[in-house]
Amino acid sequence: MSRMIFMNDRLVPEEQAVVSVFDHGLLYGDGVFEGLRSYGGKVFRLAEHVDRLFASARSICLEIPMSKAAVAKAVVDALAANKLSDGYVRLVVTRGAGSLGLDPNKTKHPQVIVIADTISLYPREYYERGLRIVTAATQRTQSAALSPRIKSLNYLNNIMAKLEGLQAGCIEALMLNHKGEVAECTGDNVFVVRGGRLLTPPPDAGILEGITRGAVMELAVAAGVDCREVTLVRHDLYTADECFLTGTAAEVIPVVEIDGRTVGSGAPGPVTKRLTDDFHALVRR
Ligand code: PMP
Repeated sequence: MSRMIFMNDRLVPEEQAVVSVFDHGLLYGDGVFEGLRSYGGKVFRLAEHVDRLFASARSICLEIPMSKAAVAKAVVDALAANKLSDGYVRLVVTRGAGSLGLDPNKTKHPQVIVIADTISLYPREYYERGLRIVTAATQRTQSAALSPRIKSLNYLNNIMAKLEGLQAGCIEALMLNHKGEVAECTGDNVFVVRGGRLLTPPPDAGILEGITRGAVMELAVAAGVDCREVTLVRHDLYTADECFLTGTAAEVIPVVEIDGRTVGSGAPGPVTKRLTDDFHALVRR
């Protein structure tokens, strides 16, 4: 059976959910997106994702032709139409079709697309044993060039780093900013535990402020774990007691090796395990 896709104002069968070859989302990566999850029929932090989508759009002068409430409803409707209670949703807004020039003023009709599907998590063994990652030579884009806080359709910066990770046999790669500080991974935020304290790079390190990141920081506080946003360099990761990544698709996933250095004991640590459990409890609540 074909999936139902929300396009602009209604649900249509997958085959009819098409965009123009003149869409600047396709031609230039001009647009914004979100990835969301639903657990047991409820979308996790839906309002936060919709707010971030609208903030990304505002930043690139893209006017989403729907209200926040209507976008949120489209997400819920797309999941329901595909009978998905545990699903992944890709919410996309493209600049729309225009001429073959960069000028966004020459485009018409931004396209609002909601794809509800199932999620493929990282293989289970990685959650049990932890990930190996490497640092990519590709730097995270500087905020002065393109802010990583904008979740835009232009993900080539991350894809270049992802390729480096894959070429090294790793499914994630660490990205540094132009100052050589730890920013984030290609599709996940990064945390370390040192002396019982949870540390993660601040937004001005050049990161996407992940919604999972925010949730995990709140869970840490609730669990009595001191959590701080601090500048980190690779040395901090190499010498950490624990390291883990967070993201909508990944949830919380341990990292046990970075650039050939074993992190902590080489197995997922107690703070990582506690926050993983608390995260699972939170999304099911
Ligand atoms: N950083 C980047 C570059 C990402 O693409 C993502 C995934 N959207 C994240 C971090 C994690 O963000 P979130 O927890 O909101 O999914």
